[in-house]
Amino acid sequence: MTLPADLPSLAAAPWLTAAETQRVLAAIAAGGYEARCVGGVVRNALMGLAVTDIDIATTALPDDVMRLARSAGLGVAETGLQHGTVTVIADHHPFEVTTLRRDVETHGRHATVAFTDDWTADARRRDFTMNALYCDAAGRVHDPLGGYPDLASRRVRFIGNPADRIAEDYLRILRFFRFTAQYSTSAPDADGLSACTRMRDGLTILSKERIHQEMTRLLVARRALDAILSMRDHGILAQVLPAAPRPGLLARVIEIERACGCAPDAMLRLAALAVETPEDAVRIGAAFKLSRAERGVLDLSSRADVHLSAPLPPSAARALLYRQGPDRYRRLVMLSWTRALDAAVTAADWSDALALPDRWFAPKLPVSGADVVARGIPPGPAVGEVLRALEAWWIECDFAPDRDALLARLPTP
Ligand code: ATP
Ligand code: MG
Repeated sequence: MTLPADLPSLAAAPWLTAAETQRVLAAIAAGGYEARCVGGVVRNALMGLAVTDIDIATTALPDDVMRLARSAGLGVAETGLQHGTVTVIADHHPFEVTTLRRDVETHGRHATVAFTDDWTADARRRDFTMNALYCDAAGRVHDPLGGYPDLASRRVRFIGNPADRIAEDYLRILRFFRFTAQYSTSAPDADGLSACTRMRDGLTILSKERIHQEMTRLLVARRALDAILSMRDHGILAQVLPAAPRPGLLARVIEIERACGCAPDAMLRLAALAVETPEDAVRIGAAFKLSRAERGVLDLSSRADVHLSAPLPPSAARALLYRQGPDRYRRLVMLSWTRALDAAVTAADWSDALALPDRWFAPKLPVSGADVVARGIPPGPAVGEVLRALEAWWIECDFAPDRDALLARLPTP
């Protein structure tokens, strides 16, 4: 057990001293209850990493949280009420405020929980030791389970017996790899890894949405490649990914993203890792319940016919960018670069092609259907045909013809 004296203080953390955070914590304290920040925010702050959203744990029941927040003039949204969570909004910042809970019964997917005022019981139902740290309004860190040394050594370790904790919720297998990929600097914890390997069949009972959410976060993590390799080597990746993984291509796309200073792109990484054929894209789209936009990225990877073997000459590159739009264009260049085999094409050539949308903005076709109709062509499919032919010519001329030149080419009936 770590003595409180060993724990660093978060008293100076800007997110904690922020007026909105203090208002929420004070509103709950005003009712005589305790409230502490918990989970990701405390973990990241202690590691010196960026903090995004703030979760708060409290001894107050949800009804009390709502009453106290309203009487302090704060906003309230009841979206997570069935899990004991109230969203309190202060100065447009949402805070998820959850009543302390202990698990009563767990079924691998859902847990029946009971409210409690016992901080240690609340900590025990959480997944990893580094996720069970709390911080009060004054910045004092509370560590009921002694998880701080694990955090300090970046060790992602299950709370309690790993196999038991996985049997309660199989998503923890994916979370183990996700957090290891995000925060650990060494190999996965041996006990955790061995339990994940033994229990991997349970992954099949998880909902597609939960798999999607964890896998997307895992894929953009700092050490995503190591996590994917480890999951593959232990038979875990095959439980969630219905396609043959090619970690070499994942490694390549990560390398390229880094070289270009591009933000990690989960779908691009997934596409590089596992999409070779249109069937792969369909199967993964269904297994992860992907959105249309996400499926679009996977489709791009399956379309060998549109991949570039080398960057296009300038006018053809502009035509491609115009037709695909900047997002699809960039991803197409990235995926082509990832698979490029021609050693004569340099990284500078590819990154120049990738940067085209930063220096050239596709113009808008300066004529419209109304112009075509004004020429006496009756409204209907013929208008679209004429317009498309005109656009094709305009693109072919590298977007040079102006409105007058385009109008001059319109057929006169
Ligand atoms: P991130 O910054 O990635 O959001 P996080 O730690 O906030 O990290 P969340 O998934 O938002 O992660 O979960 C918030 C907290 O809730 C975790 O820190 C953990 O204590 C607990 N938790 C979330 N999911 C589980 C789970 N499946 N089993 C046990 N505890 C969980
Ligand atoms: Mg979170």
